[in-house]
Amino acid sequence: MKDSLERLLIPELARVEPGAARRRLRRRAFFCALDNWGWLIYLLIFVIIYVVFEVVATECCSWLGVAYRRWVRAATRGLANGVGFLLALWVLRIRMRGSVRRQLIQRGLPTCLACGYNLTGNVSGVCPECGREIEQP
Ligand SMILES: [Zn+2]
Repeated sequence: MKDSLERLLIPELARVEPGAARRRLRRRAFFCALDNWGWLIYLLIFVIIYVVFEVVATECCSWLGVAYRRWVRAATRGLANGVGFLLALWVLRIRMRGSVRRQLIQRGLPTCLACGYNLTGNVSGVCPECGREIEQP
């Protein structure tokens, strides 16, 4: 279950043998996605989602002519939490995949940085999956 979910979310990880090496790769990718000021992105996502939802809910209430009651506020914040969480997870996934691809290249496993395609044996210098030019060492 955990393995198939991982294959769905970060398919590039399957190119490294399961075990310590893959765990190390995953951990490095996770911290890479949060390093420097990267964690601010996730905070910003929540702030923006909260503001947008608050404004939309207030506008909807006044348009419908109903009071902005406590339960409306609770529902709005609950929804904002859910959407913010999913969005933050999505961004985390994108950033982790980028880091995994860079790490695969460092390990001598040719990988397309744009789409993650396995470029082993590629001689054309162009990714057959997405058409991006390959910049390998
Ligand atoms: Zn590609």
